[in-house]
Amino acid sequence: MVTIPNHVKHIRFLERHLSLLPGSQQEHDVNRMAVIFYSFTGLAALGIDVAKQYGSNLDWLYRHYITVKLPGWEQTISGFTGSLSVQIAGVNTVSLPNTLFALLVFKLMKDETFWNNHLNRQNVMTFVARCQSPENGSFSSTLDYKKLEPSPVDPKDLRFCYIAIAILHLLGCRNDDEFAEHINLDKLLNYILSQQCDMGGFGLYNEAHAGYTSCALSALHLLGKLDQLSDKFKERTILWLCQRQVSREGCMSLLEPNDNYDHDDHGGFQGRENKFADTCYVFWCLNSLGILESQDCELPTRLDLAEQFLLHRTQNTIIGGFSKNDQDDPDLYHTCLGIAALKLIEGSFDGVLFMPKNNSS
Ligand SMILES: [Zn+2]
Repeated sequence: MVTIPNHVKHIRFLERHLSLLPGSQQEHDVNRMAVIFYSFTGLAALGIDVAKQYGSNLDWLYRHYITVKLPGWEQTISGFTGSLSVQIAGVNTVSLPNTLFALLVFKLMKDETFWNNHLNRQNVMTFVARCQSPENGSFSSTLDYKKLEPSPVDPKDLRFCYIAIAILHLLGCRNDDEFAEHINLDKLLNYILSQQCDMGGFGLYNEAHAGYTSCALSALHLLGKLDQLSDKFKERTILWLCQRQVSREGCMSLLEPNDNYDHDDHGGFQGRENKFADTCYVFWCLNSLGILESQDCELPTRLDLAEQFLLHRTQNTIIGGFSKNDQDDPDLYHTCLGIAALKLIEGSFDGVLFMPKNNSS
């Protein structure tokens, strides 16, 4: 394992989020599961044995596993809530993102008791299934707070499609029949394919976005359905992703003159056209390219420059952590994504399941 410069500072930065949230981050108290997930994933990627170091916190994690059956419901659901501070009797607060975050944390914790005895797979699968829109096959992040129906106020998009599929994968689904036993697989595939953009990539309203692209490709990969994409679309997507790497001269892949570059963005990746480079998009773009890479072409991306962008521009060498760009303070999300991107480049990170490779088998 290659050590990231300032390794110890990054570990301390992540550990601080686990003991007491900095005052500036207090609004994230309702997202405690996300805080635990990003901290643990970053720490595990840096080589910390979180199972050993945080094993005494398992009871606390278990309390966030909630089973709900409200009056009038014909089924029982289980999943995770983001924080016990949002628990209200008679209201469902279980969400798909918190359920995925917690399942990945339990993978990192290597807690066999949870997987074998505590977890009710059927209840969690029922919850996932109920979040699918019967109209277009996409997923909502949660249910209506009283009904067994997708939340009418939450967006339904590729992020939650990926999360739903990742949860089913972690619960053991591996082939069409196993996925189709719980969700409408055809409708989901139609929805994902409907989000392809003319220029390549995936996004809403034909505007490709690197985050949505990573979610769509990761979901298709887990479903074994990348062959549903045409070769032409894959080529356009690879080109579009390579063009997201910003350089002083222009896009790395075309070297067309670029009058609007930010000098300091050299080597970084942007999420969409005409945006500044951002730490997290190094991960989203490289993960997408990694999924499509099996074609035998040499990609024009410069991984060395992407690494330099992270280490010299967005890494905080004083207090540890990574920021979005070279202006902002470091934050937990960009720290985790920055470390994940560096480990993805190194080859030790499973970008599809978002965990270090030695935990994902
Ligand atoms: Zn970002």
